[in-house]
Amino acid sequence: MKSLQEKILKEGSVSGSDILKVDSFLNHQIDIRFLNEIGKEFKERFKEDKVDKILTIEASGIGIASIASQYFENVPVVFAKKVESKNLDKEVYETKVYSFTKGKEYTVRVSKKYLNKGENILVVDDFLANGRAVLGLNNIINQSGANLVGVGIVIEKGFQEGRKVLEDEGIRVESLAIVESIQDGKVVFK
Ligand code: 5GP
Repeated sequence: MKSLQEKILKEGSVSGSDILKVDSFLNHQIDIRFLNEIGKEFKERFKEDKVDKILTIEASGIGIASIASQYFENVPVVFAKKVESKNLDKEVYETKVYSFTKGKEYTVRVSKKYLNKGENILVVDDFLANGRAVLGLNNIINQSGANLVGVGIVIEKGFQEGRKVLEDEGIRVESLAIVESIQDGKVVFK
């Protein structure tokens, strides 16, 4: 997606050797007009597929999934919760995920009420690095008996192993921008 590449080049910044920051439009401040373009593009990529629900992971995935949902006949958006809360139902699917950015493992949970056997689930997320977040969501989908249609990623870091890990599991990955490398603080696209 050309406009996404341009936006990353204009507004993104690099932290260390492998973290891309896009806080001005995706991860802190949210550019709604631009997220609409992202939502339309996800619909275009998955227009042949039956999607009953969109599943993501808090926090940044929520805005992306919510806007995208409007282009998928307003299907419900479910987000996996990272924080344990008294409000959450007792009956949950849960799994552990290793966080690339935080360098530690955490548990994510989805109430059993909101994922059902036979439903077709599209997963969306902001970044794909080593694929752990998506593998965690796939694990939860498998526990529920729902089907994973595919994964829509806004920014894939192609120099990390995420795509390979997911494709080895037979998971379809559609990324709107693929960063091939980060060289001397500069982003290079595939
Ligand atoms: P993975 O699970 O694929 O290793 O990492 C993906 C998750 O880590 C995403 O949900 C995202 O929140 C975070 N992440 C990984 N790499 C980056 C990055 O370069 N920039 C930002 N902002 N988040 C990242």
